[in-house]
Amino acid sequence: MHRKLRKLVSAEGGHIDRIVVCPHGPGDGCECRKPAPGLLYRLARHYRSDLAGVPVIGDSLRDLQAAARAGARPVLVRTGNGRAAERALDGELAATEVFDDLAAAAAALLLE
Ligand SMILES: [Zn+2]
Repeated sequence: MHRKLRKLVSAEGGHIDRIVVCPHGPGDGCECRKPAPGLLYRLARHYRSDLAGVPVIGDSLRDLQAAARAGARPVLVRTGNGRAAERALDGELAATEVFDDLAAAAAALLLE
Protein backbone atom coordinates (compact mmCIF):
# COMPACT_ATOMS: atom_id res chain seq x y z
CA MET A 1 0.00 0.00 0.00
CA HIS A 2 2.73 2.48 0.94
CA ARG A 3 4.79 1.57 -2.11
CA LYS A 4 1.76 2.12 -4.35
CA LEU A 5 1.01 5.45 -2.66
CA ARG A 6 4.60 6.65 -3.07
CA LYS A 7 4.57 5.58 -6.72
CA LEU A 8 1.30 7.40 -7.48
CA VAL A 9 2.48 10.59 -5.76
CA SER A 10 5.86 10.39 -7.48
CA ALA A 11 4.19 10.03 -10.89
CA GLU A 12 2.52 13.41 -10.26
CA GLY A 13 5.80 15.05 -9.27
CA GLY A 14 5.29 14.81 -5.54
CA HIS A 15 7.27 13.19 -2.77
CA ILE A 16 6.25 11.53 0.49
CA ASP A 17 8.99 12.07 3.01
CA ARG A 18 7.72 9.91 5.86
CA ILE A 19 4.85 7.58 6.67
CA VAL A 20 3.95 6.63 10.24
CA VAL A 21 1.35 4.07 11.26
CA CYS A 22 -0.25 2.77 14.41
CA PRO A 23 -0.01 -1.04 14.39
CA HIS A 24 -2.35 -1.41 17.39
CA GLY A 25 -6.02 -2.25 17.70
CA PRO A 26 -8.76 -0.12 19.29
CA GLY A 27 -8.53 -1.99 22.61
CA ASP A 28 -4.75 -1.86 22.98
CA GLY A 29 -4.69 1.47 24.81
CA CYS A 30 -1.69 2.76 22.87
CA GLU A 31 -0.66 6.40 22.54
CA CYS A 32 -0.56 6.40 18.74
CA ARG A 33 -4.06 5.37 17.67
CA LYS A 34 -6.06 8.48 16.81
CA PRO A 35 -7.54 10.44 18.52
CA ALA A 36 -4.40 9.99 20.64
CA PRO A 37 -1.64 12.29 19.36
CA GLY A 38 1.29 9.83 19.49
CA LEU A 39 1.90 9.62 15.74
CA LEU A 40 2.04 13.39 15.50
CA TYR A 41 4.49 13.55 18.40
CA ARG A 42 6.62 10.93 16.63
CA LEU A 43 6.74 13.10 13.50
CA ALA A 44 7.54 16.18 15.59
CA ARG A 45 10.49 14.35 17.18
CA HIS A 46 11.71 13.13 13.80
CA TYR A 47 11.66 16.61 12.30
CA ARG A 48 12.74 18.26 15.56
CA SER A 49 9.75 20.54 15.15
CA ASP A 50 7.13 22.12 17.33
CA LEU A 51 3.61 21.27 16.14
CA ALA A 52 2.16 24.70 16.89
CA GLY A 53 0.54 25.98 13.70
CA VAL A 54 1.41 22.86 11.71
CA PRO A 55 -1.61 21.88 9.57
CA VAL A 56 -2.90 18.34 10.07
CA ILE A 57 -5.37 17.48 7.32
CA GLY A 58 -7.93 14.74 7.87
CA ASP A 59 -11.44 13.60 7.07
CA SER A 60 -12.54 12.37 10.50
CA LEU A 61 -13.13 13.79 13.95
CA ARG A 62 -10.42 11.47 15.24
CA ASP A 63 -7.87 13.10 12.93
CA LEU A 64 -8.90 16.56 14.10
CA GLN A 65 -8.93 15.57 17.77
CA ALA A 66 -5.41 14.16 17.48
CA ALA A 67 -4.28 17.41 15.85
CA ALA A 68 -5.87 19.54 18.57
CA ARG A 69 -4.42 17.39 21.37
CA ALA A 70 -0.95 17.67 19.82
CA GLY A 71 -1.24 21.45 19.66
CA ALA A 72 -1.28 21.37 15.84
CA ARG A 73 -3.74 23.02 13.46
CA PRO A 74 -6.69 20.77 12.52
CA VAL A 75 -7.87 21.03 8.90
CA LEU A 76 -10.88 19.08 7.62
CA VAL A 77 -11.56 17.96 4.06
CA ARG A 78 -15.10 17.09 2.95
CA THR A 79 -14.02 13.96 1.08
CA GLY A 80 -14.28 10.50 2.67
CA ASN A 81 -15.92 10.88 6.09
CA GLY A 82 -15.47 14.64 6.00
CA ARG A 83 -19.07 15.74 5.52
CA ALA A 84 -20.25 13.75 8.54
CA ALA A 85 -17.31 15.09 10.55
CA GLU A 86 -18.14 18.65 9.52
CA ARG A 87 -21.67 18.29 10.93
CA ALA A 88 -20.20 17.15 14.25
CA LEU A 89 -17.65 19.95 14.71
CA ASP A 90 -18.05 21.62 18.08
CA GLY A 91 -16.13 22.57 21.19
CA GLU A 92 -12.40 22.86 20.58
CA LEU A 93 -12.97 21.94 16.92
CA ALA A 94 -15.72 24.48 16.15
CA ALA A 95 -13.27 26.83 14.40
CA THR A 96 -11.68 24.09 12.27
CA GLU A 97 -10.86 25.16 8.72
CA VAL A 98 -12.83 23.12 6.16
CA PHE A 99 -12.06 22.56 2.48
CA ASP A 100 -13.83 20.57 -0.24
CA ASP A 101 -10.86 18.29 -0.83
CA LEU A 102 -7.13 17.84 -0.30
CA ALA A 103 -6.23 19.86 -3.39
CA ALA A 104 -8.26 22.84 -2.14
CA ALA A 105 -6.71 22.59 1.33
CA ALA A 106 -3.19 22.36 -0.08
CA ALA A 107 -3.77 25.29 -2.44
CA ALA A 108 -5.03 27.48 0.42
CA LEU A 109 -2.19 26.48 2.75
CA LEU A 110 0.44 27.13 0.09
CA LEU A 111 -0.81 30.71 -0.30
CA GLU A 112 -0.02 31.50 3.36
ZN1 LIG B 1 -0.91 2.56 18.30
